[in-house]
Amino acid sequence: MGSPIRILVVEDETRIAEVVQSYLECEGHMVDRAATGEDALDDFSRRRPDLVVLDLGLPGISGEEVCRRIRAGSDVPIIMLTAKDGEGDLVRGLELGADDYLTKPFSPRELTARVRALLRRARSDDLTESEFRLLRPSPAFRAACTRGSSSSARCRATGSRDTNAPSTLTSRICATSSARTHGRHSSS
Ligand code: CA
Repeated sequence: MGSPIRILVVEDETRIAEVVQSYLECEGHMVDRAATGEDALDDFSRRRPDLVVLDLGLPGISGEEVCRRIRAGSDVPIIMLTAKDGEGDLVRGLELGADDYLTKPFSPRELTARVRALLRRARSDDLTESEFRLLRPSPAFRAACTRGSSSSARCRATGSRDTNAPSTLTSRICATSSARTHGRHSSS
């Protein structure tokens, strides 16, 4: 069984934080909440959560800065929550090392599915087929990657605009997708 997964939810909108918390608790996780960037960093260093759900628009220290500081010392999976018009923040957040993101308003079920996929990846680095489908980027995104672009920034930007696909994962999925395609077509 192992010990329960501990998740830190950083969100200043109480209603959203409560919904996210209740969905994650239904999945059997332990949830801590922080409503400011300061509290988030404090909570993170004290409790060492297994995953962080991080709103980008926070009072005080921004979500972006929280992401940067966490990443400076940890590879904990981070899912960012972002407003629809916050694309610039989002791209910076992904470049700072967040693993995935959801645009508000988002479905709590989608969030829990993505949490599950990221936790699986963190544990085994191996996604199931359904998780692969969940996180699979759009055809346009895959096309950009399979054209052989080595620019991860370009992949990230395309993925951010066109899909809900995450940065680190999309790179991985892109590679997997490419490998599968090549495996199928040139089996030497
Ligand atoms: Ca907010």
